[in-house]
Amino acid sequence: MSEKRQIIRAETAGFCMGVDLALRKLDRLVSEGGQPVFTLGPIIHNPQVMSGYARQGVSVSDDIRQIPNQARVVIRAHGIPVDLEDSLLARGVKLVDATCPRVKRAQRLIQKHTAAGEHLLLLGEPDHPEVRGLLSYADQKAHVFEGLSDLRGLDLDTRNSYFLAAQTTQDRGEFNKIMEYLQGYLQTSLPVLDTICDATRQRQQEALAIAHQVELMVVVGGYNSGNTRRLAQVVDGVGVESIHIEQPGELPLEKLRSAGKIGLTAGASTPRSLIDVVYCKLLEIEGT
Ligand code: SF4
Repeated sequence: MSEKRQIIRAETAGFCMGVDLALRKLDRLVSEGGQPVFTLGPIIHNPQVMSGYARQGVSVSDDIRQIPNQARVVIRAHGIPVDLEDSLLARGVKLVDATCPRVKRAQRLIQKHTAAGEHLLLLGEPDHPEVRGLLSYADQKAHVFEGLSDLRGLDLDTRNSYFLAAQTTQDRGEFNKIMEYLQGYLQTSLPVLDTICDATRQRQQEALAIAHQVELMVVVGGYNSGNTRRLAQVVDGVGVESIHIEQPGELPLEKLRSAGKIGLTAGASTPRSLIDVVYCKLLEIEGT
């Protein structure tokens, strides 16, 4: 006799607030019609969503020299360096700022502390677009490092005043260790900016809680989406197999048929409609 598969679906799966806002701004711009629309880099790390926008005439460019002066340009949720923004504005390009409000807040705070003469210590990935944007508000007075061991290798001039901040998606535990280390090392008061966004942590915690109750976990999202890949790693880390897919058609049906309970989660750049389709497909799989 066959029975329906039990699926535990994460409530936090799918778009975070920043991605949702950015896509709404882009949708509004596309629906207005008019001059060509560009995004500086992919607005979202999801190939299916990006192809949909390409069909509606949205172009992606990493190089501002390729963007015509009359274009309308959407700044994505990660934000952009301030000099790029200035050059686009100087050329008369219409900018639509879809920088996530949390990233915007981090940029403003960094600018404020830099103006007060402090040097930024930033926990983050040096090549990440959000980090490049944040650093641009620190007026060259910044060190970026990827963790405590990286930070220990920096030659910090203790005569400077420093402040500490993090890329929004960094791990709070690591950040707290770094803060304690710096407070001991610098022996002066260290302003600490609260810039970490809990959207990532909440998704990871829920994925972990579900992983403890299931045999297999399906993780939906772009292969190029860092936060989606990290969700799969979190699940693998507790010894539960994760299956990372971009499209419903990639579900390994045979394997899923022989599993007990199945978990389902998705990265912050995965549309709800896609998660719904995967959920329905999983429900249709019958056990034996
Ligand atoms: S993860 Fe957080 S900071 Fe990043 S875009 Fe989403 S809401 Fe904004």
